[in-house]
Amino acid sequence: MLKSEKEHLICSVCKHEVLKTDDFCPHCGDIFDANIACVHHHNVPAEGVCIICAEPLCAECGGWVRGLYLCRKHLGYEIVEGMVRIFGVGDETQAQVANSRLEQAGFHPLVFSHKASPISLGGTDDMIFNEIKIMVPCQEVAQAEKVLRELGILHT
Ligand SMILES: [Zn+2]
Ligand SMILES: [Zn+2]
Ligand SMILES: [Zn+2]
Repeated sequence: MLKSEKEHLICSVCKHEVLKTDDFCPHCGDIFDANIACVHHHNVPAEGVCIICAEPLCAECGGWVRGLYLCRKHLGYEIVEGMVRIFGVGDETQAQVANSRLEQAGFHPLVFSHKASPISLGGTDDMIFNEIKIMVPCQEVAQAEKVLRELGILHT
């Protein structure tokens, strides 16, 4: 049987399809239920849900960053199309080790490397650090960071 179209709604912020049963949009963190309170301030209504740690937060505890709702801890994270940078190195071997360890642990990492930026060609930019990034889907960030920390790869 085909799923009824009525089970889905379109998020007014990011225009992604969300389930009618969702309390918040997992893509951007917009909250649909006005009765949900901030996890840190129980009498303050939540304004959004951090898409990385999935906690409802008030304006004091979180904020919107380029259309995504994030907590204070995750505000500075680099996010590209739902993938979050958790680790960056200049050494490709180390990036591959981190990637395969995460895959073995059941995560869905993506190795993203910016070999040469057309803007930095020629000139005095030789010192620019070509970072190889390990990115994982939003929901996997906390657990994937834990794995890398336990392996001694991530030190923050
Ligand atoms: Zn959304
Ligand atoms: Zn968070
Ligand atoms: Zn709060």
